[in-house]
Amino acid sequence: MPWPSVRDDEVFSLLDKELERQNTTLQLIASENFTSPAVLEATGSVLTNKYSEGYPGKRYYGGNVIVDEVEEIARTRVRALFGADHANVQPHSGANANVAVYLALLQPGDTVLGMSLDHGGHLTHGSPVNISGRTYNFVAYGVTKSDERIDFDQMREVALRERPKLIVAGATAYPRIIDPAPLRAIADEVGAMLMFDAAHIAGLIAGGAHPNPVPYADVVTFTTHKTLRGPRGGCILARSEYAKAIDSAIFPGLQGGPLEHAIAAKAVAFAEAATPEFKEYAHRIVANASALAEGLGEEGFRLVSGGTDNHLILVDLRPFDADCTGKVAQEVLDRAGITLNRNTIPDDPRSPFVTSGVRIGTPSVTTQGMGPAEMRQIASLIARTLRERDDASVLAGVLGEVNELCAAFPPYPEH
Ligand SMILES: *Cc1c(COP(=O)(O)O)cnc(C)c1O
Repeated sequence: MPWPSVRDDEVFSLLDKELERQNTTLQLIASENFTSPAVLEATGSVLTNKYSEGYPGKRYYGGNVIVDEVEEIARTRVRALFGADHANVQPHSGANANVAVYLALLQPGDTVLGMSLDHGGHLTHGSPVNISGRTYNFVAYGVTKSDERIDFDQMREVALRERPKLIVAGATAYPRIIDPAPLRAIADEVGAMLMFDAAHIAGLIAGGAHPNPVPYADVVTFTTHKTLRGPRGGCILARSEYAKAIDSAIFPGLQGGPLEHAIAAKAVAFAEAATPEFKEYAHRIVANASALAEGLGEEGFRLVSGGTDNHLILVDLRPFDADCTGKVAQEVLDRAGITLNRNTIPDDPRSPFVTSGVRIGTPSVTTQGMGPAEMRQIASLIARTLRERDDASVLAGVLGEVNELCAAFPPYPEH
């Protein structure tokens, strides 16, 4: 074999360190999770060697009999999981899934409604720095000032005025249920198509903890690596009438060869998500977020929209401490072994690089087996860290407690 006989220590020692970091510190980034050993095994499989441009039964290269079976299993499982007509499991990421849908359904310059980025929308929902905002005429809707929830009346008004070809629903930093029924009603009233981007909440939907948008939307996109707990990647579900356009948009429209090792891992994750244990997991994510929100509220934090009914909490740090920006909080918490991300809050006066808020999610800690008691402990650790952020001994003390907590719930104990 031509393989080098010495291990590449430069890289693999870093992988060991990253495993250690994941096993010993708290992962509260709302878009992250820990995949199962089976998902990791499929991701690291020999399918990474195979070229398979095209779709099952219609490939451009030979040798795809087995790959076809793998991709067909993935498609069948995800259709059954969400009750969808058609599935494309090839998107390399959530962003690619979204861009492919636009490519399939729109012409450059078409008007699209998307949630404003600083109210919780995603870059691919029309940000001017993203291909979506540069190619299509995105018009934004947002949350109300009073309750910080999606304002369906405002959305309807904007839709009636702008007559969009497509309405994009879904968010990356929105702590409430997004009800698909009023979205469908608005889309029908103005003759628009409806795309629901379920990137964050796909696992909550699969587990029955949130309403399924598939019966309402023309197209549903999602990432497989967030609450769904699969490998890094994307997926598109569509009504049959859009199947051909969606498939052509992914390949040859946007991507080349699919990542069949990732598709095998998606298939494994889809089966895991169909189990009763996953249903219970999805509900525990939500219960943990509620417990964490309650704990944070008691510590004096203001929660955007007053709380959460999904897997994440958006904290407005200003009432807690006017000098503590999201950037400061993220950095100091990282030093104490608590990893989360700064995030803008609705109508944030600070830039997206600084921000006035942080986003906190429970998918990873819930996978580890933590429950409401640990969520309360985490709320108090976060508060102590931010209150006494200039005291190195406090930070060291918190880090010690974090290490102890994680030692009781290691995600990958066998390593
Ligand atoms: C995470 C996310 C995406 C993008 O997923 P990537 O895999 O990072 O490209 C798209 N839309 C929403 C709403 C997201 O939260």
